[in-house]
Amino acid sequence: MFDKSITAYEEAKKVIPGGVDSPVRAFKSVGGTPPFIEKGEGAYLVDVDGNRYLDFVQSWGPLIFGHCDKDIEDAVIKTVKKGLSFGAPTILETELATEIVEMYDNIDKVRFVNSGTEAVMSAIRLARGVTGKNKILKFEGCYHGHSDSLLVQAGSGMATFGSPSSPGVPADLTKHTLLCEYNNIEELKKCFEVSDDIACIIIEPIAGNMGFVPADEEFLAQCRKLCDENNALLIFDEVMSGFRASLTGAHGVVNTKSDIVTFGKVIGAGMPVGAFAASSEIMAHLSPDGAVYQAGTLSGNPVAMAAGLVSLRKIKAKKDLYENLNNKVAKLLAGFKKAAEDNNIAFQVDSRGSMFGFFFCEKPPKNFKEVGTCNFDRFAKFHQEMLKRGFYFACSQYEAAFMCEAISDEDIDNCIKAAQEVMATL
Ligand SMILES: *Cc1c(COP(=O)(O)O)cnc(C)c1O
Repeated sequence: MFDKSITAYEEAKKVIPGGVDSPVRAFKSVGGTPPFIEKGEGAYLVDVDGNRYLDFVQSWGPLIFGHCDKDIEDAVIKTVKKGLSFGAPTILETELATEIVEMYDNIDKVRFVNSGTEAVMSAIRLARGVTGKNKILKFEGCYHGHSDSLLVQAGSGMATFGSPSSPGVPADLTKHTLLCEYNNIEELKKCFEVSDDIACIIIEPIAGNMGFVPADEEFLAQCRKLCDENNALLIFDEVMSGFRASLTGAHGVVNTKSDIVTFGKVIGAGMPVGAFAASSEIMAHLSPDGAVYQAGTLSGNPVAMAAGLVSLRKIKAKKDLYENLNNKVAKLLAGFKKAAEDNNIAFQVDSRGSMFGFFFCEKPPKNFKEVGTCNFDRFAKFHQEMLKRGFYFACSQYEAAFMCEAISDEDIDNCIKAAQEVMATL
């Protein structure tokens, strides 16, 4: 029964483009109507028709404890009662910044913004301001928000300057963005040969926006080396992996250190928050201390800070949180893998901490092009059938999945059983 969602979708489409405020929510790549959500309950989503789903999206990552966590809810309500926004400093900002800085030995200072997009956009400006260079290097399949210079696609050849991937983005802007293949060291080196004007490399060290594809250690080491040799800065976009891949994000599970880190998602616990962080030396370039301008009326919003603060403190207090999340992910993926094997279905799984992914293909994809060779029809069918059975996965093969604390072992057993049924029909 999706009657109410179908009606809600029709109504939404009259006043909101495509009926949604972020395109992936429209379910275009898997078909059908997106369930309109009434509320969350721990591990579950409840839609307007009263259907319940075990939620492996968790608002695309932010909710590590699941929906309606009592401590976070209480902190938010308490803060709301003191006023929604002041446009003046609050102690909450310092407290949340302290929690973040403590976990990363490469950062001393944090600036809060309102989204991951804004965090990355600002981090890039900072990198350009610090180095005095213009170009940025990004990798195909990594997503860093929707700001102009990051909406690029490959030009005539790889290791060339990107062309806009969206109308409305001037080619004059994307010509400053070099694009190369993820996990491809040769192309990476070529970029530095064709340009001596590269301000920064920006990368998802554990990519979650082309499905789940981690970078090779050697590839990250080369990024670091080339930045050092060419006076460029390395930006790790940890908007998704921060406090997800481990207690210390991707930095905790890879050997390479970055110069600037961007955050979002978990640090806001479901409220709109982003942040970028670096050493005191780099952050000294930022206004009001330095000349690189960046600002925000609602930045560091007290309600958002309160949610993030309680969430991070809870995360730190639970010593075995990531181990438990990791174990749950491993159990789920082992169950999926076996269900696929039993039915002779080519299937790949991988995870770091509470982030995970799966692909319908012969070998683990290493880059965007290889992800593109996976069986998308099979994914769409899997998605539809799991949704019918009450399991809510990201509605695109190009997205990762997330485990939250509220998902129980029993939930996982039920999910594996459903996957067994569904795999047999693919
Ligand atoms: C989600 C995401 C962003 C964009 O964050 P928004 O809050 O959606 O603007 C940027 N980078 C990465 C790695 C992300 O996963």
